[in-house]
Amino acid sequence: MDTPRFPALFISHGSPMMAVDNSATAQFLMNLGSSLPRPKAIVVFSAHLDRSEQVVITASPRPELIYDFYGFPDALYDIRYPAPGEPVLAQQVSEQLQQAGFITLLDQRLGWDHGVWIPLKLMYPHADIPIVQVSVNSQLDAEHHYRLGQALAALREQQILLVGSGGITHNLRAFFSPEPAQEKGAKALAFNEWVYQQLTDNQRSALLDYREQAPELAYNHPSEEHFLPLLSVLGASEGAAERIHHAMEGEVLSLDAYSFAA
Ligand code: ZN
Repeated sequence: MDTPRFPALFISHGSPMMAVDNSATAQFLMNLGSSLPRPKAIVVFSAHLDRSEQVVITASPRPELIYDFYGFPDALYDIRYPAPGEPVLAQQVSEQLQQAGFITLLDQRLGWDHGVWIPLKLMYPHADIPIVQVSVNSQLDAEHHYRLGQALAALREQQILLVGSGGITHNLRAFFSPEPAQEKGAKALAFNEWVYQQLTDNQRSALLDYREQAPELAYNHPSEEHFLPLLSVLGASEGAAERIHHAMEGEVLSLDAYSFAA
């Protein structure tokens, strides 16, 4: 019998206000943690650790939080999330990536960005599950991120939860622009529903070719770091995804989440 695989998730982390807004998406994340089997640890690819030299892995036993957002209410900067790191798992992640040909850096000082700690605090408020974060590289393509996920797929057989944290769409300028809501909403939904269709039909080659095939890519991802974590989770899975949450914030920011069972 095959070892049961732990689910792998993609989460759109939205605005940092998610930490305090009690929105439908925050509620969804609060319920998500308790709906899953309890993981031994969590490995997260987040959009906000974007490094071009090496694949950087957080390796401290107690990473700090990085408050990498500006101009938000004080309450957000007062949030603490004292979940542990896991240096032994970080080492294992590094070795698996090296075996797959990646150059890695175990960073003993680096903390977690808000794409890690905001959703995970909602999912696991007791801060009692160790977390290791792995960087993305927006200088590189879909293939790089897919292979990153493939190299770590076996962790899912060790009760480790793999999470990609980004945004299915992510255009902050559009979010604040005075453009009519209907027009911006149409462009965001075109991309969002294309991704939904490919993920739920398991069209991997189309997803890997998103730069050619996805409608309104440039509008929805002026830079692509929020999309790339999805490709790593895709690489760590084989089957179709299930959309487990759908919401659009301000017409243009998709807050969709997906779960991969196989
Ligand atoms: Zn973000």
